[in-house]
Amino acid sequence: MSKTPFLTKEKALEIIKKYPTPFHIYDEKGIRENAERLLKAFSWNKGFKEFFAVKATPNPFLINILRDYGCGCDCSSMTELMLSNAIGVTGEDIMFSSNDTPPEEFRYCSDLGGIINLDDITHIEAVEKACGGLPKKMSCRYNPGGVFQISNSIMDNPGDAKYGMTTEQIFKAFEIMKSKGVEEFGIHSFLCSNTVTNDYYPILAKVLFELAAELKNKVGVNITFINLSGGVGIPYMPDQQPNDIMKIGEGVRKVYEEVLVPAGMGDVAIYTEMGRFMMGPYGALVTTAINEKHTHKEYIGVDACAANLMRPAIYGAYHHITVLGKENEFCGCTYDVTGSLCENCDKFAVDRKLPKIETGDILYIHDTGAHGHSMGYNYNGKLRSAELLLRTDGSVELIRRAETPKDYFATFDCFDFYNKLINKE
Ligand SMILES: *Cc1c(COP(=O)(O)O)cnc(C)c1O
Repeated sequence: MSKTPFLTKEKALEIIKKYPTPFHIYDEKGIRENAERLLKAFSWNKGFKEFFAVKATPNPFLINILRDYGCGCDCSSMTELMLSNAIGVTGEDIMFSSNDTPPEEFRYCSDLGGIINLDDITHIEAVEKACGGLPKKMSCRYNPGGVFQISNSIMDNPGDAKYGMTTEQIFKAFEIMKSKGVEEFGIHSFLCSNTVTNDYYPILAKVLFELAAELKNKVGVNITFINLSGGVGIPYMPDQQPNDIMKIGEGVRKVYEEVLVPAGMGDVAIYTEMGRFMMGPYGALVTTAINEKHTHKEYIGVDACAANLMRPAIYGAYHHITVLGKENEFCGCTYDVTGSLCENCDKFAVDRKLPKIETGDILYIHDTGAHGHSMGYNYNGKLRSAELLLRTDGSVELIRRAETPKDYFATFDCFDFYNKLINKE
């Protein structure tokens, strides 16, 4: 299998005339088609709703596309809540799944009418204090501990994760909240990240559905939604088989009918909080080769760096690279593709087989639509790139400008030397 860019070289050259590299570009058509498939896959569930994980791609223009498909926002910080509010995502379109939460964020979420998803049992009191009481509808995040396995292979290690409540705690939390007048309850859990298998959601759903039935019976609470959270992955590598969201939806439906319907819970809404699956494949980082270096290895230096896309540097994550216009050329060269940070981890690829690259070639780094631009940072004084949107009609829109030195220096604006800094711009 191979990976196909959503841009041709011709299109990229046309865009670069107006917006120089590096930039992240997103594909509206891909985002829409994927969102449609998701709705179809869960159309059997009346209350189904996706709360897009804002942290993955906090751009209002992109979130607005998803709103056409009924998506809300999953927030976990003050600024994510502010961003949601600014684009009109308020009330129960907000899921606040945070952890280690400061009280003012609980208060702000509650003021917006968002659903608070508690990460810890001690936060019941924190919310009461911050908000002057508990909202009528609350959710709790569950962490069963141990390891998460799919047929004998360990997918992740929830027992080592800082998130969520233990089984004992979630029972206790529901009891306390019920006694304090909470009327509607939800359960949330995020046990594995970037799963490329159709079995993750169904297996997770079974765990949560059984827990929900037990909570209903033993504590007598009214559970109205179950939030499967994020974790549905994408095939970063060309030989990976993509998830089939129709199969995933069908798998969850089967468990729903096996567990929830017999428990008299056939009206529970299924929620998701996906980031990567909604946006990852529909974004790319476009960058130009500006240097080649032949020392102990062969290096291609590009005009983007880890400040634009951090995943390879921090997780050693694989991002496929296509040299635009050389899609069909033989990959006979072995390169490290590097950025300019003074950090040796600043490499988009290590020992990657690619066609022969000349200075000026345009590299298309795949699957940067989620946890790409958003993870960016300013180390080495690097400025974060622009974000562009390729509209379904083929036009290209600037949806976030590139940072300028003025942005970088903005936090010195209370000092005398600030003017000198920005006049030098
Ligand atoms: C990061 C995150 C998500 C989204 O995860 P993806 O892997 O991008 O789907 C959803 N919910 C919570 C609470 C998160 O922290």
